[in-house]
Amino acid sequence: MSAIRLQEAIGCRLLTIIAHMFIVSINKFIHFPKDIFLFNRERSNTAETVSNYRLTISMKGQGNTEPRSGTYYFERGARIYVSALPASGWKFDGWSGDLSGSDSTRILTMNSDRRITACFYNTSHKLTVKVNGHGIVRQFPDAVVYNHGTIVRISTLPGDGWRFDGWSGDISGSHSPHIFSMNSNQRIIANFLPIHTLTISTAGQGTTEPRSGTYSYDRGTRIYVSALPESGWKLDQWSGDISGRDSTRILIINSDKNITACFQPQYRFNKPVTPTISYIANRNSREIHSSDCYWVTKMNETNKIPLYDFSDISEMIKNRGYNGCFYCLRRYDRDTLTSDVVLRNLEADSAGKQLG
Ligand SMILES: [Zn+2]
Repeated sequence: MSAIRLQEAIGCRLLTIIAHMFIVSINKFIHFPKDIFLFNRERSNTAETVSNYRLTISMKGQGNTEPRSGTYYFERGARIYVSALPASGWKFDGWSGDLSGSDSTRILTMNSDRRITACFYNTSHKLTVKVNGHGIVRQFPDAVVYNHGTIVRISTLPGDGWRFDGWSGDISGSHSPHIFSMNSNQRIIANFLPIHTLTISTAGQGTTEPRSGTYSYDRGTRIYVSALPESGWKLDQWSGDISGRDSTRILIINSDKNITACFQPQYRFNKPVTPTISYIANRNSREIHSSDCYWVTKMNETNKIPLYDFSDISEMIKNRGYNGCFYCLRRYDRDTLTSDVVLRNLEADSAGKQLG
């Protein structure tokens, strides 16, 4: 650039500045540099100014930040140092919101509104275990205060007559052992429920639903029990902690229970034959039994006709249409043998005085 051209440029610039000073002085009637300074300060302190951005700093846990929690305004493009300072017994966990990472000091560039949170965690946590009902909880490692992040294993041992029903409080589910990490204070409740046993057995031929055996139920459970006789048998009665003859019963388990379904043959009683010398006829069913037959004990007294020897039996069967018992006098049982066979047996036994 030549000397003349430089002089021209400086002269031109000076003229412009002089002209500007003149206009501003006329408008404000005060000194030019002071006016510009006031004008700028006003603008930078106004929240609504487009060129400013808001920074909101908050905390989770115990500690401090630099700058302190609060709301600040910075000019566009400002670079701000933010630091997280944990309280004693706490550690800095990381930033959240519009800032991430776990470096305690970060630089934030204000190119939009920012909302950041410094997260602190306690370096030790308390484990509180409570038990509902009867049972114990074992902890490993066994402590009350744990370092942050310690893996703890808890397991349950129900008391006698109790069962573990599940966790409540800060954990849920019913897994035992349960394994978890101590990342905060934990309040844990182990719930145990009382149980009772139901023992079901049978006498005679038949089954039950549920099947014979011993079962555990929560106290207060309502159980349907059914008696299922085998073919040719029927339920005589329930015995033990229930009674009655209904084949299905509801049982409320409020204590240990022992029940038996007693079955009896619908018609015959299949136990080994032990003939005796005296017999009893049934006026009603027209059957004849040896005196120790199961059916004799079931017979109404008014129906019993005592028979004292074999000729009495023979007379009843031949001439009065009576009939032997499959269980005790099966050779004379017309229900399973034909009349001819019964009479032939009677003849033979009569000749030899054999019974059976
Ligand atoms: Zn009989």
